[in-house]
Amino acid sequence: MTSFEVAILAGGAGSRLKSRTGPWPKPMVPILGTPLLEHQIALCRRHGFLKILLLVHHAHEHIRAYFGDGSAYGVSLAYALETTPRGTAGALHDALPHLLDTFLVLYGDTYLDVNLRRMWDAHLKQKADGTLFVHPNDHPHDSDLVELDDQNVVTALYPYPHRDECRDNLATAALFVMQRSGLDGMTSRDTPADLVRNVCPTMLRAGRRLYGYVSPEYIKDVGTPERLDQVEHDVTAGVPERLSGRGLRAAVFLDRDGTLNREVHHLNAPEQLELLDGAADAVRRINRTGRLAIVVTNQPAVARGNLTPAGLEHIHRKLKGMLGRQGAYLDAIFACPHHPDSGFPGEVRELKMECDCRKPRTGLIDAACRDLAIDRGTSWMVGDTTSDIEAGRRAGLRTILVRTGHAGQDGKFLFRPDYVVSDLEAAIAWILDGHPQISRQTAPIAVAALDSRVVLIGGLARSGKSFVAQVLKESVQAFGRTAHVLSLDSWLKPQGERAEGKGVMARFDVDRLATTISPLVGSARFHSIEVPIYDRGRRSMYDRSAQVAIGPDDLIIVEGVPALAHSDLVRLADVRVHVEMPEPERIGRLRADYRWRGESDAAVDALIASRAADESEPIQNARANADFTVMAWTTA
Ligand SMILES: [Zn+2]
Repeated sequence: MTSFEVAILAGGAGSRLKSRTGPWPKPMVPILGTPLLEHQIALCRRHGFLKILLLVHHAHEHIRAYFGDGSAYGVSLAYALETTPRGTAGALHDALPHLLDTFLVLYGDTYLDVNLRRMWDAHLKQKADGTLFVHPNDHPHDSDLVELDDQNVVTALYPYPHRDECRDNLATAALFVMQRSGLDGMTSRDTPADLVRNVCPTMLRAGRRLYGYVSPEYIKDVGTPERLDQVEHDVTAGVPERLSGRGLRAAVFLDRDGTLNREVHHLNAPEQLELLDGAADAVRRINRTGRLAIVVTNQPAVARGNLTPAGLEHIHRKLKGMLGRQGAYLDAIFACPHHPDSGFPGEVRELKMECDCRKPRTGLIDAACRDLAIDRGTSWMVGDTTSDIEAGRRAGLRTILVRTGHAGQDGKFLFRPDYVVSDLEAAIAWILDGHPQISRQTAPIAVAALDSRVVLIGGLARSGKSFVAQVLKESVQAFGRTAHVLSLDSWLKPQGERAEGKGVMARFDVDRLATTISPLVGSARFHSIEVPIYDRGRRSMYDRSAQVAIGPDDLIIVEGVPALAHSDLVRLADVRVHVEMPEPERIGRLRADYRWRGESDAAVDALIASRAADESEPIQNARANADFTVMAWTTA
């Protein structure tokens, strides 16, 4: 018998999958019409592993009849028949004499899309006796978990059931690279045993070196009809492909305190963790779409000496455990333990420094992009402070500010998120549903705007204009052209001069904006203009304004309630867009917005009535000036 480099444990009966397999054994269950085992053999072949030993038992004649000697599948196959089933380790024990010194072990009940060659090479480089594929999953409480040191060497194994809530969410996933010598004396002919639950712990006790290969690549077991449905859905939706690393991956970077969990001043104990409403659902949605969920967090408490690195790790395990209970997981957590100001009692001197990783610096995001092969262009940053937004902006991500935690009111950096939403759940809904939907509508507008200088976007208050403007800006920039969004909110009159109920033009200084941009039309030089920044929370301008340099070929997008209702502006523009939102949703948003600013219910009703009197007629009339109408996105 030739020596084999892959062992596939294909002896399972699959009684729970009877409805899908009929007389066939579990490894033959069809995934989108192709037997699972055929997917696995194709994967081995793709990565250059051609000599495969199938460890068979139940209904093995079906498997032999289908694959034969493997030549039709481009590989060389042989069969090792296990007469009495003795667990995964028993099957492997019998097969050992036929395997090469280094060999892969796959389980015949998992669908996987993993770069086997890369894992193999990592195993050799680590000089490990065994390498286990490990990853965070959506059910850590009933998985076999491992603990790794900072070199990813396995220090402990916790087979399910494990009682401690604070195990790290790193589950074994039925894929191994093994050294035959590493298994010497670890398996037995007679006692039934499981590779993960029995053999690996024995190896650890015997001082064998086990290495944890942590990867976001797709690997899921298909042991029940529900899991099988999920895998077929994932494959159809391209999830394994997105996670494969063949292309760059997409990620959603999340701030921790105030975004994922409730903001507590100086959180330094796991008991203080409280997930915000909808946060776990939001993370689960990220997981399901094959995007990475990565936390980037400043933890200066470590530098201050209020929290040890081990204490921080403990908090993070608890956080992962809480998410895991709700079927969600984080692909990674990157934390900055530093703080720049020194000279306080109890501080950790060596962590008091100007580092590259403290947000708004981009070190944490850069490290994640490097380690996990992430594409910044399709990735997002979600956070509750201006330093989160600034970090995302500097790192080349799209940014979303949530109105939980500090709600962007920290005043540390310029307030310039791409999008503002109520909370993490709304942020993820925007990323996954809203943004693609608006992008489809802005694509033709971006084409129409190719040779234009000014685009106007108008519509009633809170109808979604600023989101449409930002998405249009991205669409235009995808064509390689720079675009700038100017919000008419920046040209709101000072609060004292702003008259409610005197018509929409009494609130905005549209004349001044028109005067500012009219010299730019037809100009062949750069213009630097000062753009005040409106603070919706305080209903006034920030003390600092943004300076915007507008080049001669750039597109200027002006968005605001009266954008299509001012004749000078309308004359300056080449493309005019009206944004429409169903009235009940729009009133709901207006109401939520006023409440967030702290207005009483009575005041909210009065404001809504006054806005209706102010805006409805002129803005609806201004629709006649529009070349395009965009239906805004709502969660409802
Ligand atoms: Zn740092």
